Amino acid sequence: MENIRIIRTNSPKQKPDEKALGFGAIFTDHMFVMDYDIEDGWHNPRVEPYGPFAVEPSMMVFHYGQAIFEGMKAYRNKNGDPVVFRPLNGIARLNRSAERLCIPQVDEKLVWQGLKTLLDIDKDWIPTAEGTALYIRPLIISMDCSLGVRPSHTYRFFIILSPVGAYYAEGIKPVKIYVTDEYVRAVKGGMGFAKTAGNYAASLYAAEKAKEKGYTQVLWLDGCQHKYVEEVGTMNIFFKIDDTLVTPTLEVGSILGGITRDSVVTMAEHMGYKVEERLISIDEVYEAHKQGRLKEVFGTGTAAVISPVGVMCWDDNVIEINNNEMGEFSKLIYNKITGIQRGTEEDIFGWVKNIYE
Ligand SMILES: *Cc1c(COP(=O)(O)O)cnc(C)c1O
Repeated sequence: MENIRIIRTNSPKQKPDEKALGFGAIFTDHMFVMDYDIEDGWHNPRVEPYGPFAVEPSMMVFHYGQAIFEGMKAYRNKNGDPVVFRPLNGIARLNRSAERLCIPQVDEKLVWQGLKTLLDIDKDWIPTAEGTALYIRPLIISMDCSLGVRPSHTYRFFIILSPVGAYYAEGIKPVKIYVTDEYVRAVKGGMGFAKTAGNYAASLYAAEKAKEKGYTQVLWLDGCQHKYVEEVGTMNIFFKIDDTLVTPTLEVGSILGGITRDSVVTMAEHMGYKVEERLISIDEVYEAHKQGRLKEVFGTGTAAVISPVGVMCWDDNVIEINNNEMGEFSKLIYNKITGIQRGTEEDIFGWVKNIYE
């Protein structure tokens, strides 16, 4: 494996107040970087001071959007060692996104090595207050300076780190979601399964419209028939109908395969719940509600882990779920998964990786 060069900062920053972190606004002292070109492949892996780098207005990423990213979290275990939740799943997904966007594959072992090296250097930035974490953001961008439409020949890979506050500083409050059948996030054959900048750009307009109407997030339906549920905002979605958990199947190709989604499916099955990964139409959701069988709805993602849905609006039809309170199952699965992340629950699936092991 290639040696990772280390260039330390001469001017370490003041650590922030753990009580006022917010999300993704503060960055640590260092970042991991490597470069790609046709002759050398990925090369020059290094940890260097976090900071600006030179770009040109002609750089391809600004025009044609070859940009992918990941999101994970690091914590400290009981011994104070940095641990990361399911990092290898995130790195593998980065390569799946890369393939879809014609970005060259990375060496997954080298990326994990790079992340471990970076976390070791910036470990003092991992916050310890309840609910806080160090958010990890790997990303790859195309760097050719050219306006021709084709895959870039040069790329840069970064991992940057951001201490983040408790997502639920004021306790978990259910969100209000607006079902849009006007706008779509992704379509079959498109890039929905990839974690790419363009999907987020495509989602902003509908999200702003929903906010104007007083809703927190958009619930996306499939791009062809505007019928089947796909995701909620930038999270996967689960419905608890009677005692069964239903979540949209990834087979449609337009849904991002969340690692939290997979963790919920795995954990719920382990706890003896029936889980169905299948098509679920918005009609079925409303019908289940009408019959009193829609017990809980929640989103899943790295940032919030579990985000209960309290109110849904579809076609001017507003329904309230579980009296607009977080449900029993949502609480249980939230405690299980965050417990594993923080080391207070046994890590039965081997999800937590210590950077020193
Ligand atoms: C990242 C992301 C998710 C959640 O994935 P996790 O791995 O659980 O964080 C869901 N949907 C979209 C569109 C995403 O980008």
